[in-house]
Amino acid sequence: MNELPFDVVDVKKTFRSGDRSVTALRGVSLSVQEGEFLAIMGASGSGKSTLLHAIAGLTEIDEGTICVEGQKLTGLSDAQLTRFRRERVGLVFQAFNLIPTLTARDNIRLPVLSDPMRSANADRLLRELGLADRGGHRPDELSGGEQQRVAIARALICDPAIVLLDEPTGSLDSVAGRELCVLLRRLSDQSRRTVVVVTHEPAVACWAGRVVVLKDGQVVDSFPTDAYQNAETLAQRYQAALEAQADCQA
Ligand code: ADP
Ligand code: MG
Repeated sequence: MNELPFDVVDVKKTFRSGDRSVTALRGVSLSVQEGEFLAIMGASGSGKSTLLHAIAGLTEIDEGTICVEGQKLTGLSDAQLTRFRRERVGLVFQAFNLIPTLTARDNIRLPVLSDPMRSANADRLLRELGLADRGGHRPDELSGGEQQRVAIARALICDPAIVLLDEPTGSLDSVAGRELCVLLRRLSDQSRRTVVVVTHEPAVACWAGRVVVLKDGQVVDSFPTDAYQNAETLAQRYQAALEAQADCQA
């Protein structure tokens, strides 16, 4: 049995509406090891969000397979898929997506309100994410960095094997963005959880262990970050990957 956190094989996806169609993924394959911290880079429109949503079971794919923890997503019933989305993956978005009328604590425990045992974990997560004194505050009383940490705590409340973050620093200033990267690195180092962050910022990607570059719905490069410990050198490799692909197509 395949026990990789997730394994994406030759996935294709075209969005159709009326007589218009946009192909977002053109045969993407991607294997991720347990505990890996992966960054998916690519320009706007390269298919990053579509890929993330497909892995999270939110977007149906046209072709190929996605297995998460050995389970093929296309084989799941609607009820199983709903459970999978709630339990096995944690999703974090650029815009935080918190409920404005709820406190930080209640936002975090929202996915598990009917489960007092797991609800109780909200306070542990608040502490772990440096929000111990923020539990009773509503989102508009929190900084952007704090709101994003609440969103991450909410994503962790079901103890998912995989955390998927779509441009999580996109709404943050550079200081808060860096703090968030430090936090993601710590999350990845301290557990066997797999962390996947979508970003177009080399300064974010260089915190990951491996970078996958998407261009026009295809993986054009994949490399460990060992040799690129700062944003400048990683940016050069990223640009080179995009240009090499352009040469091939010319
Ligand atoms: P990225 O996250 O890298 O910016 P996306 O995955 O959001 O890219 O989009 C890839 C392509 O698919 C884009 O051309 C986008 O316009 C298109 N697309 C994404 N979602 C939809 C949708 N729901 N309906 C139609 N087209 C879409
Ligand atoms: Mg996107």
